[in-house]
Amino acid sequence: MLKEQVAVITGAGRGIGAEIAKALAQNHANIVIVDYSALDAVQDTIAEIKALGVTVQYYQCDVSNFQKTKEVVDSIVKEFGKIDILVNNAGITADKILLRMEESDWDRVLNINLKGSFNMTKHTTTHMMRKKYGRIVNISSVVALMGNVGQANYVASKAGLIGLTKTVAKEFGGKNITVNAIAPGYIKTAMTDALSEEVRNSMLKMVPLGYLGEVKDIANAVLFLVSPSARYITGVTLKVDGGMYI
Ligand code: NAD
Repeated sequence: MLKEQVAVITGAGRGIGAEIAKALAQNHANIVIVDYSALDAVQDTIAEIKALGVTVQYYQCDVSNFQKTKEVVDSIVKEFGKIDILVNNAGITADKILLRMEESDWDRVLNINLKGSFNMTKHTTTHMMRKKYGRIVNISSVVALMGNVGQANYVASKAGLIGLTKTVAKEFGGKNITVNAIAPGYIKTAMTDALSEEVRNSMLKMVPLGYLGEVKDIANAVLFLVSPSARYITGVTLKVDGGMYI
């Protein structure tokens, strides 16, 4: 379905991003991973994707660095000739109630989650415009729609991402570039595995489907949004949350 396409996924060294990269590779897209982890830490992910028979390229880059992201995007275009798909997935948390939150906690989370997506989107759309084709998916969070105690920085960054999604969708609609967001609920990852039984049970009470999502649930949603089936969908935020937001 995505044969000959070039997909750039940030934060794809592990977790949700790695699963998105694999899902796109299974559909024959060539994959570029942009992650700030050292190459050693992402070798397994790279090997798994390579085994699917596509080209994989790795760039070690902090997405919050405007100049570095420009160099990375230019280098990808030089090598592959184009970028068809961009998934802004890199994200961090630094949770504290507002009373205890430091300026540095706010800046770090906003710089990576929101400015990082701005950086990658700005540099990539320049090239997508010329080809009159692009599919951008921003990984937000369901807490962006609900608020969450202890996550003022994270929630603000993820809500900002939804605003960025809608605006870029309007600005680039005429260039055949669609821009959508996904709002995952609680997804089973290393992060949620580390939670206590008590916290996990209280989380599950908020989910009508009664179980945590899996990384493949998010990857499947990304796959749909970048597929020809979703060509008339832009500016939406797709909740993949087991009904948590209802
Ligand atoms: P994760 O921590 O397992 O993986 C994040 C990846 O991003 C890592 O490989 C990390 O190296 C990379 N990264 C972090 N900062 C970076 C930077 N500055 N530049 C480049 N790469 C960077 O996280 P995850 O659980 O897989 O989450 C992926 C995305 O999904 C995040 O944006 C997260 O906010 C969002 N999300 C996750 C959940 C969940 O339940 N896990 C729920 C809602 C939203």
